[in-house]
Amino acid sequence: MHSRLPTLNLFTGIVKRLCFKTQDFKLMTHLWRYLTFTLNLFSLHLANQNYQEIMQYDVVVIGSGPGGYVGAIRCAQLGLKTAVIEKYKTYGGTCLNVGCIPSKALLDSSEHFHNAAHTFTTHGINLKDLKVDMKQMIARKDDVVAQNTAGITYLFKKNKIDAFEGVGSFVDKNTILVTKSDGSTETVTAKNVIIATGSKPTALPFLPIDKKRIITSTEALTLKEVPKTMVVIGGGVIGLELGSVYARLGTKVSVVEFLPSIIGTMDAGLGKELQRVLKKTLGMEFYMGHKVTGATVKGKTVTVTADNAKGEPVTLEADYCIVAVGRTAYTEGLGLDKIGITVEERGKKIPVNEHLETAVKGVYAIGDVITGAMLAHKAEDEGTYVAETIAGQKPHINYNLIPGVVYTWPEVASVGQTEEQLKASGVKYKAGSFPFKASGRAKASMDTDGFIKVLADATTDEVLGVHMIGPRAADMIAEAVIAMEFRASAEDIARTCHAHPTYTEALKEAALAATDNRAIHI
Ligand SMILES: Cc1cc2nc3c(=O)[nH]c(=O)nc-3n(C[C@H](O)[C@H](O)[C@H](O)COP(=O)(O)OP(=O)(O)OC[C@H]3O[C@@H](n4cnc5c(N)ncnc54)[C@H](O)[C@@H]3O)c2cc1C
Repeated sequence: MHSRLPTLNLFTGIVKRLCFKTQDFKLMTHLWRYLTFTLNLFSLHLANQNYQEIMQYDVVVIGSGPGGYVGAIRCAQLGLKTAVIEKYKTYGGTCLNVGCIPSKALLDSSEHFHNAAHTFTTHGINLKDLKVDMKQMIARKDDVVAQNTAGITYLFKKNKIDAFEGVGSFVDKNTILVTKSDGSTETVTAKNVIIATGSKPTALPFLPIDKKRIITSTEALTLKEVPKTMVVIGGGVIGLELGSVYARLGTKVSVVEFLPSIIGTMDAGLGKELQRVLKKTLGMEFYMGHKVTGATVKGKTVTVTADNAKGEPVTLEADYCIVAVGRTAYTEGLGLDKIGITVEERGKKIPVNEHLETAVKGVYAIGDVITGAMLAHKAEDEGTYVAETIAGQKPHINYNLIPGVVYTWPEVASVGQTEEQLKASGVKYKAGSFPFKASGRAKASMDTDGFIKVLADATTDEVLGVHMIGPRAADMIAEAVIAMEFRASAEDIARTCHAHPTYTEALKEAALAATDNRAIHI
């Protein structure tokens, strides 16, 4: 910057000499005015440059969930000076603290218990006095959470990311005020800001959550006892996963769902099969097409009222009621109005353009706080996308290929178009299915419920969707995602060698069925 000053001095000298030599005072005035104007412009430019230079960070990320921490790490990898602001004491957001990780820890523990109680004798293993130690189960879950959140602290240090503890709120588009829990404040400045503040459980306006008997997923992860009875409002992913945890431990679980099917956004065949299996193996009851109208607590009992499909009142009593009717974007306290960002009326999501930039240049938003699936891996990919965009790269996210998973048993996983979507859009497709009851591997592990369905374009054979319910579907779906990312045909999958005996052979067989109705083992 300063190297330009001698050039300016030289220019001023030439002008002065020229004017005195020619004695042309009109020319002198014009040139002087021009020079002053140029100098003013130049000093303005310098001031702006300095302002940019005194910004503490290239990027500040508000929120340390999977969107925020992955985005921050990618920024740091790309050489951007990065800071994260997180209001909680531990990093990792909903996912690590009260979402994906603790729920999977409890799902694993409860699955062990359920197998020990129901399938071990068939395997020839006899146990005596089997019982649940809830305190230990929750303690192990807490330990898993602690290990994972500590991992993020390590990654921040490793990548030289500064972390500020407190609630972040906009002063202007480059300045964030951090308010700590003791009320003290500090400001952080950055050229770019990424909002990754996530979401919180949605409450029903007529059903107050007391967090004791009427609870959300967060409290359901820390119950001190195995309830005798439980009502789950909502037959979506979170409700069914947490319902499964307690049903496996012996709780009588009733699911109340407004829609005619559970996991309603997935391929219809999956919801039907999952409902059948959860009823059969865990004794879960389903109240489909029921509209919840209220819930009251008396002592240790919750009474949930609903109207069935015919409009008749139904009453359910339980020890606990989990309200799992979705999640709402979290933007409270961010001060979005200060920088002119208005959230959407429904869902409170922050509007963004195709580069995930908000209405304000240099302010981006990712993860649960914006439109799209509320999934950790979607948030992570968006964190990477924005970091690379800020660094001047041209990244891409294929939103059609974000897999959806339900960690019940059997697991459910899905990617691409559902049969219902293909029908609605008039796409001609072929469907091939293969049931796990015909899989040697599934018979060996006694996991014969479920199937895999491959949907392929009727003309080109390109895979358009893969939907599976069965053992380890959560892991198996990755093969379908990769195949579809490379625009594989059903026959490409069918002609790829799959190890035997594995559950993945069922995908090969479903692909064979879709290719030309030539599955081998059925
Ligand atoms: C019970 C449960 C199970 C789930 N299981 C899965 C699963 O198996 N797989 C999956 O993909 N998804 C799962 N999810 C969803 C997943 O947790 C979310 O999609 C994911 O966490 C969203 O990531 P995010 O980074 O957008 O936000 P979050 O993870 O919500 O993180 C946001 C962070 O921002 C912080 N924050 C908010 N406002 C401020 C502020 N003003 N200043 C500073 N910090 C702030 C919050 O404290 C939080 O730490 C589950 C969710 C729940 C509740």
